[in-house]
Amino acid sequence: IAEKEGTTPISKSSFKLNTVVSITLYDSEDERIIDEAFQLCDYYENLLSRTKKESEIYQLNEKAHNSYTVSDETKELLTKGFLYSQLSDGAFDLTLEPLTSLWNFGSSEERLPSPDEIKEALTHIGYQYLKLDGNTITFEKDGMGIDLGAIAKGYIADKIKEFLVSKGVNSAIINLGGNILCVGEKPDGSAFKVGIQKPFKDRNETIAVIEIRDLTVVSSGIYERFFTVDGKNYHHILNPSTGYPYENDLTSVTIVTKESVDGDALSTTCFALGLEKGMKLIESLPDTYAVFITSDYELHYTKGFKENIKIVE
Ligand code: ADP
Ligand code: MG
Ligand code: MG
Repeated sequence: IAEKEGTTPISKSSFKLNTVVSITLYDSEDERIIDEAFQLCDYYENLLSRTKKESEIYQLNEKAHNSYTVSDETKELLTKGFLYSQLSDGAFDLTLEPLTSLWNFGSSEERLPSPDEIKEALTHIGYQYLKLDGNTITFEKDGMGIDLGAIAKGYIADKIKEFLVSKGVNSAIINLGGNILCVGEKPDGSAFKVGIQKPFKDRNETIAVIEIRDLTVVSSGIYERFFTVDGKNYHHILNPSTGYPYENDLTSVTIVTKESVDGDALSTTCFALGLEKGMKLIESLPDTYAVFITSDYELHYTKGFKENIKIVE
């Protein structure tokens, strides 16, 4: 009896969602599946982007002062974003668009806004003024807008996983600009190894490596998108009460959990909450673990992390 030949993994990368998207299939040689997954990225970008004029979120931001009806998928993600806004008491806020489009991190228009501009933008922010009634969305304040940048990549990763599984793929890694979600385990039964990046170092310099099966690993950090003015770093996770980046001694937060949308939401939320409150929140959630890195490069693991997630380095 001939031994069953293992297929070699196939991998493709493409610039999507304003980042590098890589998909690796370990148990299929059909490249068309990856191409279709890339098309899914385009589909969701055209639904969820706050900057693309034809997107549903762009249209919503233009029109929801008189109510606007969105698709089921957009509603699903808005509902998630609303829940995390409530859960964090507004430290995470999905209505941050008036502020994020002022700073414009990651675009060619990124800049340090004036204190007056920030003060003005803050008057248009607040998830409490967002009304979700079925698929009908209403802004109850002038000039409001939605920014799903903190959760969209996780959501899209989950949708890609669903798609891959529907195509019979049982072993794969989905990487949306460092937002990692794996499908199953490697064909030989071993786990996937995922590195946690050392803040401010090269992408491939890791501070820890963990083993995962069927889980997501998502990080938020001050080294991802930032610029410097007069020697001061301004990063892209903003405090909705001051209008400026959070300053709390954290350099990154990495979440390990089942669904990538939760990992994405929680990494941003924990960054916003800071070390103490963030640890507490994660320890209150089932099957969710986190490692916080402070500016001294110290690693802080939540309770149960080391018992449930194998750290190999
Ligand atoms: P990344 O963009 O590297 O995936 P995050 O998932 O942490 O990082 O998302 C950061 C993005 O979320 C920002 O670029 C902005 O669009 C949005 N954002 C920034 N601050 C907040 C906040 N306090 N609450 C909700 N969304 C935020
Ligand atoms: Mg993210
Ligand atoms: Mg996030």
